[in-house]
Amino acid sequence: MKQGRVFSGARPTGRQHLGNYLGAIKNYVALQDDYDCVYCVVDLHALTTLQDTKHLKEWTYEMVLDWLAAGIDPDRGTIVFVQSHVPQVTELHVILSMVTPLGKLTRLPTFKEKVRQQPDNVNYGLVGYPVLMAADITLYKANVVPVGVDQVSHLEFTREIVRTFNHHFGPVLVEPQAKHTEVPKVLGIDGVNKMSKSLNNHIELAIEPDELYNRVRMMVTDPQRQRRTDPGRPEVCNVFSLHKVFTSPETVRQIDADCRTAGIGCVDCKKMLAQNLADHLAPFRERRAQLATDPDHVWDVLHDGAERASVIAREVIAEVKTAVGLP
Ligand code: SF4
Repeated sequence: MKQGRVFSGARPTGRQHLGNYLGAIKNYVALQDDYDCVYCVVDLHALTTLQDTKHLKEWTYEMVLDWLAAGIDPDRGTIVFVQSHVPQVTELHVILSMVTPLGKLTRLPTFKEKVRQQPDNVNYGLVGYPVLMAADITLYKANVVPVGVDQVSHLEFTREIVRTFNHHFGPVLVEPQAKHTEVPKVLGIDGVNKMSKSLNNHIELAIEPDELYNRVRMMVTDPQRQRRTDPGRPEVCNVFSLHKVFTSPETVRQIDADCRTAGIGCVDCKKMLAQNLADHLAPFRERRAQLATDPDHVWDVLHDGAERASVIAREVIAEVKTAVGLP
């Protein structure tokens, strides 16, 4: 018996990396055990920040291929679809925008941050972004949304919109609850910034083993460890952080001790990590390659997902329009 319906959306960003996997995909896969899951590629959201949209289709394909290879499984009831394929979301967006004070939107720290990041492209979509997000969640009657600590305020905004709407028009929309998830901050190979494609400090899940070794070799370690004989501090080393995820606890303890006494060098430590990562990712790569033999598969999954999502969306938008009194 499932505990409810989960909704989560992600922008189409192409091939996924370790940060995407540990921060979201792993959790998406696990949630399928206990919830009906609705996972959406939010391509309309992507338009708010992208000026060049020519890669959107390719990025959608590559991202969903990674999702499926990682274990997101439509055969288990999970709905995987593209936001713009279910146009009712834009109708709900407009209706919800009528109960959302403009001042609240422009005061949101996330909006101010976007204005700082792209001062030459402060478009209307950026202001309405949280309303579109509320439409995404409520259109599918999701009662649970997985959120990391830094996203709690976004979901609270959705909850406020739902309360306002229901107060005006009756109890139509479901107020979603946050499902707090531990989202580890995965640093890139520079050891400083969050792993990100745009900073080119990432390690793709589908990376070839040779290239994987090169990327791991480039990883920044403890800056105080200049020579092989210098003792290291694993707690400040990103290689060690990844060992904690991909290496057995016993070996992690050994590396911790050996690093502090210079019993192991960074080159060997990295070789070990690269090998463990390659072993861990091998089944994923195999499954991805197998799925990619049918280039239509991803689009078939998305087409089917949009049809199933539309069944829910049509029902909700009809209820919303009736409640609002639209003729
Ligand atoms: S030995 Fe390993 S844990 Fe220690 S500093 Fe080098 S790479 Fe990091």
